[in-house]
Amino acid sequence: MIEETSLRPAASPYPLSVRRASTARLPTRWGEFSISGYQSLTSGEEFVALHMGEMRPDLCTLARIQSQCITGEVFGSARCDCGPQLRRTFELVAREGRGVVVYQLQEGRGIGIINKIRAYALQDEGADTVEANERLGLAVDLREYRQCAEILLELRLHRIRLLSNNPLKLRAVEEAGLEVVERIAIEVNARTDALAYLRTKKRKMGHLLTSV
Ligand SMILES: [Zn+2]
Repeated sequence: MIEETSLRPAASPYPLSVRRASTARLPTRWGEFSISGYQSLTSGEEFVALHMGEMRPDLCTLARIQSQCITGEVFGSARCDCGPQLRRTFELVAREGRGVVVYQLQEGRGIGIINKIRAYALQDEGADTVEANERLGLAVDLREYRQCAEILLELRLHRIRLLSNNPLKLRAVEEAGLEVVERIAIEVNARTDALAYLRTKKRKMGHLLTSV
């Protein structure tokens, strides 16, 4: 049986619903990170956290919740800004020597890669990203950020500077009990292909973007 105290690290005011499975070194082109794997205690979901430097509840730490986007991050797709956002985050963390990226393994806002390709096909015919999901009978955003926020608590963080344009992520970390000392906009120069997508996110999903 797991002692409850093992699920309740210093910075967490309540038992967490995620469990750290393992941590290892991860040297990258941006410097030396640690990589930790997490499992949800309430679903089959898995998460990864990349963290650099000492994680301390008293220090105000750069943090980002990045949601998986294989097309943008791996294939260099210009349909969205996910790849440049992730690289920009690593640059900022490296410059500061401390910070964390919680990576949520939920492709395409939770709809999966096949449905994401179907949605892209509808967008090729003129639908925007929200309409495409609706036409496929899928929720616009299935992601749940609560457990991503709990990972920050598990890492013993309490005060963060959140790199995000997404008001749902901001709300999730605050509701989880973290203090967001600052929200840092993460806007990268969008290529023309991504502009319509970003404008839809701003207009229909409330994203806090100023440059589109
Ligand atoms: Zn993307």
